[in-house]
Amino acid sequence: MLTATNIHKYYDQLWVLKGVDLTIKQGEIASIVGPSGSGKSTLLHILGTLDQPSKGEVMINGQKINFFADKQVAAFRNHHIGFVFQFHHLLPEFTAVENVCIPGWMAGRKKKEVAERAVQLLEMLGLGSRLENKPNALSGGEQQRVAVARALINNPKIVFADEPTGNLDSANARELHQLFFDLRKQFNQTFLIVTHNEELAQMSDRILHMRDGKMVI
Ligand code: ADP
Ligand code: MG
Repeated sequence: MLTATNIHKYYDQLWVLKGVDLTIKQGEIASIVGPSGSGKSTLLHILGTLDQPSKGEVMINGQKINFFADKQVAAFRNHHIGFVFQFHHLLPEFTAVENVCIPGWMAGRKKKEVAERAVQLLEMLGLGSRLENKPNALSGGEQQRVAVARALINNPKIVFADEPTGNLDSANARELHQLFFDLRKQFNQTFLIVTHNEELAQMSDRILHMRDGKMVI
């Protein structure tokens, strides 16, 4: 599903990624762990086409990402990639269901089809009674589940999650972790998750250790 080859990233003088190689199979749930500042978020942003590598190659679903073709990359991202961040980044003036719909609208899909799928996803994630609530009327766990539904609205090939439960208490964190595995079971959904949560890392199919811009064994 994803292959990254010899990924390097420089920020001015700072060498953040120093030749990362990575392969993720379809339906795999892999965790990236490592100290703060080791380059985990930078790597995830590059793999998710939100940022460009200074050097190296990323292939997703058999397609090589041409990082210089901005519009093409944005279209690819809209259709094939989902993101969940530590903070939900839901838009406060939109309802739960509208927030979930937004990436579907951006991908140019039919409004009705997107709305139906959004409701279906939210119901599946236990938020059927919260469809019309705005984010500030939802609990932290609920907000993060809305963010997961939003990540899934376009049936992405892969979902990248950057410390998705970093802001949740342990009960809500556990629930969200379980959700990832349920989604894998149901859709064979692929996940690459940066986490400091030991329990989630241990549950995942594979733990990738990152240190000082490199994958270590
Ligand atoms: P992690 O997610 O593992 O904590 P990051 O990928 O966020 O690590 O950061 C790795 C290093 O890159 C840090 O030293 C950070 O300060 C630096 N860095 C991250 N983003 C930028 C940026 N946009 N400009 C300059 N330096 C950055
Ligand atoms: Mg980070």
